[in-house]
Amino acid sequence: MKSPFLQAAPLLVEIEKAGFEAFFVGGSVRDFLAGRDINDVDIASSATPEEIKEIFPKTVDVGIDHGTVLVLFGGDSYEITTFRTETGYSDYRRPDQVQFIRSLEDDLKRRDFTMNAIAMDKDGTLYDPFNGRASIQNRIITAVGNPDERFGEDALRMIRAIRFVSQLGYRLEESVIASIKNNASLLKNVSVERLLVEFEKILSGPRQKEAIHLLIETGLYQSLPGLQHEEEALKAFNSLDMELNLSERWTVLVWTIQPPNVEAFCRSWKMPVLLMKDIKRTGDLIKNHSGFLEDEYILFSAGCAGAQSAARVQAVLEARDPAAAAKRAEMNYDKLVIKTMNELDVNGRDLLAWSTQKQGAWMKQALESALKAVLSGEIDNNKAAIKEWLEQCNRI
Ligand code: ATP
Ligand code: MG
Repeated sequence: MKSPFLQAAPLLVEIEKAGFEAFFVGGSVRDFLAGRDINDVDIASSATPEEIKEIFPKTVDVGIDHGTVLVLFGGDSYEITTFRTETGYSDYRRPDQVQFIRSLEDDLKRRDFTMNAIAMDKDGTLYDPFNGRASIQNRIITAVGNPDERFGEDALRMIRAIRFVSQLGYRLEESVIASIKNNASLLKNVSVERLLVEFEKILSGPRQKEAIHLLIETGLYQSLPGLQHEEEALKAFNSLDMELNLSERWTVLVWTIQPPNVEAFCRSWKMPVLLMKDIKRTGDLIKNHSGFLEDEYILFSAGCAGAQSAARVQAVLEARDPAAAAKRAEMNYDKLVIKTMNELDVNGRDLLAWSTQKQGAWMKQALESALKAVLSGEIDNNKAAIKEWLEQCNRI
């Protein structure tokens, strides 16, 4: 067993000591069997949330209505979810009722794909009623039960199928593709918040291009914010290099589809404001300043990290190596004579001492023009040289 499981095994022991069942489930078991790195370890148990809270002294109610309690244990935190069934998906997205149950198999039955419906106990014994292991071995994504029914219950599962293609590089089983095509329009019932989580995993996976093409092939893209009418643009989506961070990935997408209003596009996805600002800033750099890597003032204003981001995005869009582009941005940035305004050898007080004018907007303009001249090498960064230059330009 791998170490995250070993670390968490004492939790299962504690739950069993109290007379309940507990298993590792979901993505961690799947990734372990697939020989991949494991993220968070999810635990499923026959104990109800209240019973879990009696066993462990430190817990947080994160989703108690759905049966999930966060347990703080050994410096880590673990989500423990009570075995449950779900019934009555009248809105195609959330069960009307969640029922806590005591049977592992019935809990596994409500899960989306066979590879995600495998449980493992503390000794490493597997419970795999839907033969998820074969699905992992054959690298194929298969629904638990009838895909039409399962996607009808919760339409998010369709985009989850495609995000697993991006993350794992597995194929979708024919019946899964056919069913997504039939049910694609149901995706519009799913909240943007849940779509965002899965879509960002699509953008972050190594097979994002393949996944985006599946979104087009199945028609799912028509229910995604800002992408409804972008079939042609999406077809041109380039493979993203793994070097790119999330905001750079979004920027490549935005650049590929060129929405009329970037801010409106970002808001339609309800993404965090900081992410939206990053996307806009990076996009503006490459849009407005094609040769920004050679322009000292723009490099200075963007900062090293900002310039590297823009360089990586531009490189991917032009099918060049983003790592080399970022390196060049860093080298050019390092060559700047000064990196902050404080390093300019002249400040507002100097200007007032040299001029008969009163304090005002002219000072900012004078400092800005001196900064540009120093950065471009036109004048040295030294008080006397800057003063002489400002006098020549009638700035003071
Ligand atoms: P990751 O490694 O990215 O976390 P994951 O498979 O663990 O992938 P989670 O969203 O963490 O994905 O969900 C944990 C488990 O819960 C899944 O493996 C699956 O068994 C089940 N699950 C999650 N979302 C759904 C859903 N919408 N419908 C059915 N089962 C789901
Ligand atoms: Mg998970």
